[in-house]
Amino acid sequence: MADEENKPRAVGLFSGGLDSILALRLVALQGVRVTALHMRLPFSGDSGVDELEGLARGLGADEFILYRPGEEFCRILARPRYGYGKNANPCVDCKLMLMKRAKGLMEELGADFVFTGEVLGERPMSQRRQAMDILERESGLVGRLLRPLSAGLLPMTEPERTGIVDREKLKDFRGRGRKPQMALADELGVSAYPSPAGGCLLTDPVFGRRVFELLEHDGCTVGGLRLLPHGRHFRLPGGSKLALGRDNEDNDALRSVAVPGDLILDARVSSPVGVLRHRVGAVPDEDLELAASLVAGYAKPQEGPRVSVYVAELTGAGDDEVLPQLEVIPADRFDPEIRRLMV
Ligand code: SF4
Repeated sequence: MADEENKPRAVGLFSGGLDSILALRLVALQGVRVTALHMRLPFSGDSGVDELEGLARGLGADEFILYRPGEEFCRILARPRYGYGKNANPCVDCKLMLMKRAKGLMEELGADFVFTGEVLGERPMSQRRQAMDILERESGLVGRLLRPLSAGLLPMTEPERTGIVDREKLKDFRGRGRKPQMALADELGVSAYPSPAGGCLLTDPVFGRRVFELLEHDGCTVGGLRLLPHGRHFRLPGGSKLALGRDNEDNDALRSVAVPGDLILDARVSSPVGVLRHRVGAVPDEDLELAASLVAGYAKPQEGPRVSVYVAELTGAGDDEVLPQLEVIPADRFDPEIRRLMV
């Protein structure tokens, strides 16, 4: 145990992608105690976190910490100092936020350095040399930020200089090709890793449009971001936002991310759940009426010319407040006027 305590210690950023897997393994193999730091943005749920923790520990991490930025992420998403990538992804600012968290953790734990799975030139925005230098400087980690996969191409860091890690055992990968990483995975016996596709929703153009629409109409809030991945979204004429579930999974997800003050609409005939939200104050009557007819319009089967839609307001105190039921004519979902409301 005493030996463990005396080992050098590092905080490693761990997304669960191949690069972060390899970086963690390379550092752990050098006898360093690793705390893996995993970030989930506000619109990402908890799915897969336990598996990632198991993966990190299997690679040699002795601790796994989940970081869920809230308002600090909203601030950078609304006004990123280094701008957006192709879509709504403020990658340099986002990474900087994560590195600052890692630095704080390094200090709390008395660790010696921070490491990442970055590869020089692999990503156009955040892994250019200039951006990597900015990240090192502005995170306050100058000399203490190790990039094990590209270390041979970068200036020597403190842990290399003091012999905590052997620079000769680090790599000099550059660019977007994945072959060196895959060969290293084979060499290290790493077989379970995700494909490079997928990843952050902010890099998706459709999701990105929803983000920019939210910023423009409601500003950035954690609650607003949490609603975005689920269901169909409509911006109603009075300014309210309606999110409608496509299926039961969406319906459950929408209920789980609704916040006090939201109205929950449900026609109870194999229908979508609607979450209706207004930025400030009460939902205008015209929006409530239209939202109810949209819920009815997407309900199947519809019963007669008018459909009953049940409305409740989330109070946050256990029981929801049941509001008067509405009898509405279902909206025609193919009507171009309705389609224009879709976000
Ligand atoms: S891809 Fe997403 S999570 Fe990754 S740095 Fe960019 S904004 Fe942040």
